[in-house]
Amino acid sequence: MLDRALVDGLFPADLPEPAELEERYPPRDLAAGALVTRFGPSPTGFVHIGGLYTAMVSRDLAHSTDGVYVLRIEDTDQSREVEGADAQFTRAFDAFGLVPDEGDTALPAPRGEYGPYHQSQRAAIYQTYVRELMRQGTAYPDFATKDELAQISDAQRTLKLPTGYYGRWAPWRDASEDEVRAALDEGRPWVARFRSEGKVGERFAFTDRLRGRVEMEDNHNDVVILKSSESPVRLPTYHFAHAVDDHLMRTNLVVRTEEWLSSVPTHRQLFAALGFDPVDYAHLAPLMKQEGGSKRKLSKRKDAEAAVDYYLEAGFPVPAVQYYLRGLANPRLAEVPLAEALATPLRLDEFGLAGPLVDTVKLSDISADHIATLPGPEVLAGVRAWAAEYDPEVVKVLDANPELALAAIDVERVGVENPRKDLAKWSDFREAYGFFFPELFTDVTDPDDERFGELDAALVRTVAADLADTYTHEGDQPTWFQQIRDLATRHGFAPNPKTYKKDPDAYPGMLRDAANVARVAITGAQRSPDLYEVTRALGADEVVRRLRAVTG
Ligand code: GLU
Repeated sequence: MLDRALVDGLFPADLPEPAELEERYPPRDLAAGALVTRFGPSPTGFVHIGGLYTAMVSRDLAHSTDGVYVLRIEDTDQSREVEGADAQFTRAFDAFGLVPDEGDTALPAPRGEYGPYHQSQRAAIYQTYVRELMRQGTAYPDFATKDELAQISDAQRTLKLPTGYYGRWAPWRDASEDEVRAALDEGRPWVARFRSEGKVGERFAFTDRLRGRVEMEDNHNDVVILKSSESPVRLPTYHFAHAVDDHLMRTNLVVRTEEWLSSVPTHRQLFAALGFDPVDYAHLAPLMKQEGGSKRKLSKRKDAEAAVDYYLEAGFPVPAVQYYLRGLANPRLAEVPLAEALATPLRLDEFGLAGPLVDTVKLSDISADHIATLPGPEVLAGVRAWAAEYDPEVVKVLDANPELALAAIDVERVGVENPRKDLAKWSDFREAYGFFFPELFTDVTDPDDERFGELDAALVRTVAADLADTYTHEGDQPTWFQQIRDLATRHGFAPNPKTYKKDPDAYPGMLRDAANVARVAITGAQRSPDLYEVTRALGADEVVRRLRAVTG
């Protein structure tokens, strides 16, 4: 064990003592059973939908037990940090209603008593505990160079031993005070390592709150706990920061993805050495993607839908995404109506152990069903809020024609048994409803346009002109449609397919083809919502104007 003066000399003189930190961050005053959870994203890239999922689970478990949900930014790897990451977190978490109870990222900035909540601002706290472990002899400075480390693992490989820094392979584990002083005098950089009691081949078991008893190989490595003395800010590794932060923030359930499961032995050793009560874990299965016949992890690099921005840019309504994610977490919730699923707390015993599949087609169906239930003004508000960020032209158009917008949205949605489901996401609006708005509609001016099908251009022009001249707007749906029938008859179209098929040469087409002239002229497409209802939203003048556009 190194002399206390030597150890203390390795650290800034003004570090607090552990007892002061215990006092500054006292146990929380919460009811029995209240869960304190946290989400600890690293600002190293875009926000991943899996992160949103983990955050949702963490927040949900805390809130359903009257506990606290903390957002902690794990920014100890400053070389991998990306610009503007905090703003991205805020945006993503705000958009999906995951504002933390404590943290210093989200706006309006909530703050708690257990911060700072950026690990980069907690350097002194970690150093206090590294110093403490060194004082007790359960951590030590390691001056090994990269080359020396490589030589150690080469030798281990030759002997077919597990590679790593442990036991007799750890040159600085039992270094004498003189050796340490000499290395320091030479100005050699050092990291701090944990002095693990684990032995190669030993087993470890713990109870995961989601998986039950899990057994695996114990840790025998003297893991690095404090990064190199050469770094500008002396920060800890993930393992050490996890132990210190989750103890001092009084977390009692760590929800994180399965990739960390194999680190639990190391973490439990660190908690024990630090004299902390161990924390409980729930390791979530990662979100997966179906590719061909097999499943793989949703990939940040390969899959657009891995990014939270994908959902925001597409404009999936937030409740639909929340509903979908809750169904992935607890499959039972996919079977109950949306409002009930959003109001039902997630249960740890209902998570599957296989990674749930993210399927954007399924999400689109859920989302279209959800939008179909919303009253027109809510649909309009959803589209507008999305467009305000992603499609300014649509905002202008909606604001210029609010009544038309509502009338358009109501077509075949109000008072019908099966409301139309044209929108799965707000970005579908332009495609599905754009034709209602003069600003977004391009007049069909060419009678030879392929949307008119096989019909002769001259006939298309004549039919459109005739309807424009004789157009009667008033009346109910059957009355209105009768004028299309009459129009078809006047121009020699067969009244129905059966008649037409008997003698195709005798007719230019059938009623459907004549109606298609009106449909394409009025909506720009061969398929549209009920044409009569469309004309109610557009008004007589606009209908006639569009018909005339075809006649040149
Ligand atoms: N910062 C870690 C990550 O980004 C979080 C792991 C944890 O929640 O403990 O994966």
